[in-house]
Amino acid sequence: NKASAETYINGVFEQLKVKNAHQPEFLQAAEEIFLSLTPVFEQHPEYIQHNILSRMVEPDRIISFRVTWQDDYNQVQVNRGYRVQFSNVVGPYKGGLRFHPSVNESIMKFLAFEQVFKNTLTGLPIGGAKGGSDFNPKGKSNSEIMRFCQAFMTELYRHIGADVDVPAGDMGVGAREIGYLFGQYKRIRNAHEAGVLTGKTPGYGGSLVRKEATGYGLVYFVEEMLRDINETFLNKTVVVSGSGNVAIYAIEKAQDLGAKVVACSDSNGYIFDPEGIDLNIVKEIKEVKSDRIQTYVDYRPNATYTEGFQGIWSIPCDIALPCATQNEIDGDSARTLLANGVKVVAEGANMPSNLEAINVFLENGILFGPAKAANAGGVATSALEMAQNSGRYYWTFEEVDEKLQEIMKNIYVKSKEAAFKYGSPGNLVVGSNIAAFVKVADGLITEGVY
Ligand code: GLU
Repeated sequence: NKASAETYINGVFEQLKVKNAHQPEFLQAAEEIFLSLTPVFEQHPEYIQHNILSRMVEPDRIISFRVTWQDDYNQVQVNRGYRVQFSNVVGPYKGGLRFHPSVNESIMKFLAFEQVFKNTLTGLPIGGAKGGSDFNPKGKSNSEIMRFCQAFMTELYRHIGADVDVPAGDMGVGAREIGYLFGQYKRIRNAHEAGVLTGKTPGYGGSLVRKEATGYGLVYFVEEMLRDINETFLNKTVVVSGSGNVAIYAIEKAQDLGAKVVACSDSNGYIFDPEGIDLNIVKEIKEVKSDRIQTYVDYRPNATYTEGFQGIWSIPCDIALPCATQNEIDGDSARTLLANGVKVVAEGANMPSNLEAINVFLENGILFGPAKAANAGGVATSALEMAQNSGRYYWTFEEVDEKLQEIMKNIYVKSKEAAFKYGSPGNLVVGSNIAAFVKVADGLITEGVY
């Protein structure tokens, strides 16, 4: 019943807080899941007996290692590398690598934990993991990036494999870095095991659409949300935070569908272009020059640049797509969006809205697409890359894009149905958490205690 479900969940959460007292991001991600679970444990008392929740919040393995490399001045540098293998119940460990100075064990664990749920939602056979390093790629030369990737793989290779653990990109890791990592893996193993990493360059083991997949998938997901209220992207005003891989391809697809995207940002500040963003300029700045978004105004005199990344949420819009990083929308930003008439918020980044912000959206009838569901298109397309790697045969852009659309639609339907079945109709946070949780929980029981 409800009381024993609540007692059990609270007990596990109290223990978790003690054990992870210094890991705020991980506790935040866990709390968001825990808040959805009372109806699950009410309907599945066997989950309490199997102590499913304690097992699901404890990663299978946390690998932490030193990465030593030489910079362009022959100075030896030291960084910390991580790989958190959270769960392989549904398939081999799978998840990106993040190179960013903020990387620590809490951030790795929160990302790997979320990845378990997200990957399960795709319906494809992938478990959850995340890795990375506190290495800061900003300002590093191409050779430094290459040497760092080689040093990183010199340790990582022993922990991964096409049927074991398949890393990909995340912040600071794109096709270039994956190429250097893959090259080093091949040298060490003397084998062309294409399925050991995803996000590779097409023509060298990569899948078409992988680069675009997270952003496109986000927009496909929002299309499904809009369809339910008889709406489309046509003529909608959209604000997208970030200007990395996720943001760029979310903007591209939203524009293709007739939306007007008026703003995007980087960690320094945001640009507002009332005429609609010229994406070719953003691509030139970010993909070619690796420059600051601030320089956009040099090309477009009608656009404005404002310091600080929070201010972007004060721009009036119909649809907000946070695609920058964790906790970029707090309660105040959420209330500002609400006051300015936002109708849909969907998360391209991982955990961009804090718990207070999510509550503001849900309590005020905003359609809210949580990260685990809305940004799963990237990792789903990684799973399609793995399928192509093992088949040694590559699909066309259209074929992959069609599969991606189908997957995003299924995630939406699955989340909506679970929300309905467990008593929170319309709440995609609860729906996506529960749909994924039940699948992993049943797997844990099916595969026995270990
Ligand atoms: N880093 C991406 C994510 O957060 C993609 C991971 C992957 O493709 O394995 O889901």
